[in-house]
Amino acid sequence: MAYESCGDSLTYKELWEHSDRLAFLLWEVYGEREKDQPVIVYGHKKALMPVCFLACAKAGRAYCPVDVSMPESRIQDIVDTIGNPLILATEEFPLKDCRVIGEEALKIITERTGVRPLTHMEPKDTYYIIFTSGSTGKPKGVEISYENLSRFVDWSVGFFPKGSRIMNQAPFSFDLSVMDTYSALGGGSTIYGLPKEMQKECGETLKFIKDNQIEYIVSTPSFVNMLLVDKSFCADNFRDIKQFLFCGERLTRETARRLLEQFPGVKIINTYGPTESTVAVTSVEITEDMIESGEELPIGIVKEGSQIYIDDEEIIICGDTVSSGYFQDEEKTAKAFFEEKGVRCYRTGDKGYFKGDMLYYAGRKDNQIKLHGYRIELGDIESNLVGIDGITEAAVLPKVKDDTIRSLTAFIVVEHLGECEEMSFQQIKEIKRKLGEKLPNYMIPKKIRAITRMPRNNNGKVDRKRLAMIV
Ligand code: AMP
Repeated sequence: MAYESCGDSLTYKELWEHSDRLAFLLWEVYGEREKDQPVIVYGHKKALMPVCFLACAKAGRAYCPVDVSMPESRIQDIVDTIGNPLILATEEFPLKDCRVIGEEALKIITERTGVRPLTHMEPKDTYYIIFTSGSTGKPKGVEISYENLSRFVDWSVGFFPKGSRIMNQAPFSFDLSVMDTYSALGGGSTIYGLPKEMQKECGETLKFIKDNQIEYIVSTPSFVNMLLVDKSFCADNFRDIKQFLFCGERLTRETARRLLEQFPGVKIINTYGPTESTVAVTSVEITEDMIESGEELPIGIVKEGSQIYIDDEEIIICGDTVSSGYFQDEEKTAKAFFEEKGVRCYRTGDKGYFKGDMLYYAGRKDNQIKLHGYRIELGDIESNLVGIDGITEAAVLPKVKDDTIRSLTAFIVVEHLGECEEMSFQQIKEIKRKLGEKLPNYMIPKKIRAITRMPRNNNGKVDRKRLAMIV
């Protein structure tokens, strides 16, 4: 079995043959004309999703995964950025006037017999494009080449022995999903896709883990924190679990300690990396000694093929998994990426330091944050707030407790709102609704507070320190 999600399953043979047939169609009908244009693969966790991914690759086309949780205007941004792309939709596609091959047609195509793909990918070809939050209010597409992905998988397969049962928590539009999906496919394991409806209920998720005898959990620490609230989440009840593999945000000592208490002897691996360098480039097994030392947990030792150095506190990643840049955005690409003696390098914006060959994370240099595992540019929310119902200025700040970001607060300046006037509950609800038309749910600030004037520091910039005192 290659993939399974709530009864919707796919063997390796089916995955191979179905993707062959879809690839044939992609090349035969659209191939030459559109070969440089990415294809959008829309949906959630159906078994047709990995079929579409492989089909694109076999047709020599890049794919861009878009999850059902993305709001329409965000999808529209991506469609516009690519420029009227072909869309393979495994769920109903929400936008009108697009070139869509829907679920029924996809099934018919993939179940035809006897055709083979007509082309293949070259190492430098873009394999996938993942869009991530951009500080100016529009998402930016990170291009990952076939070679980037191959070099990442060469390393990541080592975490999962052949035939493992691996849980996929992240939607395919986040690059954390690449860790479970491609490591499993590269190493002959089975992926179990956990749908988002089941993630809302801890009990449902735990049932999924038990029913599918999950051995390897690939997730953000936030996700496991949610499961740890349930005291039945322990080795006695979940005997199959062998390893927790984390990536995407800070792993705290508290989470690691609680995990080892509930699952004595389980392997905890912390990995680190941005989408721009193909999921992760460092790893370390977290030991009891590290937890007891009272110090920050490390993010790991750099994998073969990658090099990391620290420049003015900032982590710079170089090597074979670093992206060529952002899709059709030379300016942003030039700001973050550069070449050094023929090697591709990326300025992460993360602060870090080494102790020997072990790397440690020390926060961000800018206003990018992680909330419940999601990467968010605060500027993305601010840009989308300005313009709604007379909002002239906005600043979004994280609310931090026990070193972890718990929620967001937006401070807004509203036209025609008097000195001591408060906004009504209804007005705030309406702002949140309007913001929800543009941004995914996880980016909507929990609190929205109107202020008469935005505090500024001597440089004329928003005085975030002052605002932080009243969050
Ligand atoms: P993403 O592109 O969504 O994977 O987010 C990448 C960012 O997540 C990195 O630049 C870091 O700021 C943060 N991050 C990823 N892994 C870790 C980790 N193990 N510890 C702390 N922060 C992390």
